[in-house]
Amino acid sequence: MSTPILECIDLSKTFAGPTRLFKRNPLVTAVDRISLQVMPGETLAIVGESGSGKSTLGRLLLRLLTPSQGEIFYQGEAITQASGARLNQLRRELQIIFQDPFASLNPRMNVAAIVGEPLWLHSSLSARQRQEKVADLLHTVGLPAAWANRYPHEFSGGQRQRIGIARALASGPKLLLGDEPVSALDVSVQAQVVNLLESLKQQFGLTMIIVAHGLAVIRHMSDRVVVMYLGQIVEIAAVDDIFDTPLHPYTQALIASAPQLQPGVKRHIPMLQGDLPNPASPPSGCRFHTRCPHASDECRLLEPINQVLAGGRQIACHRWQEINRDRSVIDLAPPSAAFLRRRALFERAVKQRSITLSGEVTP
Ligand code: ADP
Ligand code: MG
Repeated sequence: MSTPILECIDLSKTFAGPTRLFKRNPLVTAVDRISLQVMPGETLAIVGESGSGKSTLGRLLLRLLTPSQGEIFYQGEAITQASGARLNQLRRELQIIFQDPFASLNPRMNVAAIVGEPLWLHSSLSARQRQEKVADLLHTVGLPAAWANRYPHEFSGGQRQRIGIARALASGPKLLLGDEPVSALDVSVQAQVVNLLESLKQQFGLTMIIVAHGLAVIRHMSDRVVVMYLGQIVEIAAVDDIFDTPLHPYTQALIASAPQLQPGVKRHIPMLQGDLPNPASPPSGCRFHTRCPHASDECRLLEPINQVLAGGRQIACHRWQEINRDRSVIDLAPPSAAFLRRRALFERAVKQRSITLSGEVTP
């Protein structure tokens, strides 16, 4: 198996919440012990409701934010502590496209300056060569080179997003992360930008991470999907498996909540009810239990462990086998030692009735 281009192990990020008079800041763990791998050349989607920690995870992976805990590896090299020249190099190779192209483009710079800035900073090209390169990049993203002396406000949303993409390409990235890259665009323009990203991926041999709260976009673009809920991963699977046989009740609800995906198909899975709980005080046990139609006592008390299934599929749900009994059989890899240890601890605790109300399991 090839080395992942990006990998994180046990990655966490905790923020201090908003300050309130005479009150301690509640801490928000936006990303909570996440481990995942991004393989070279793939498009990995990260999905989940707004507030689930997708943007934070993306920024951590690109070293735009410093993790509170955990390790990040780029092509096998630990980059968690990278700084100085190495960090600058990494920033060039790992590029981001933002949701709101207007907010991310300096309104006082013209397109030539915006797209040319990374070249000016990171290359030894002459002014003339830079100008040619900018023209090239604009052409690559489907904009006339003659527009180089225009300013961001003169463009439509879709065109501005193309400028943002040209800028990201200028430093010769290996990986491109799109944080809701089309969410702010008109539906009619979304498909054009999606197509552009796909063709750039082929043309430059890029790896992509696409962060999205909606499923429609990622179905067509991604190879694998990571589903997040309140800072944790609940399921990882190939894109077709996510849509055809979602195993986690949250993934099932997300898909059921997106009716346009399967017009005419009768809905037999309940849609997502209620709001995301407050991330500063997430529910005990399985974080999804307050909205899950299948929640049991075990779910309220014990945090599920991520189980790896055949084919690299991952699921973090106590009851996924019962819930999906009528679906085709999926081989379960042998449970890990950590899983067996926690399971034994839980069973012993249940026997001794030593479970406290907070959901802590006391041995
Ligand atoms: P998503 O991209 O899935 O909508 P985010 O990663 O933006 O989620 O946010 C996850 C959680 O972390 C939210 O509760 C959010 O309020 C909190 N958060 C994100 N960034 C910060 C920050 N800079 N300071 C404090 N809290 C933050
Ligand atoms: Mg976000």
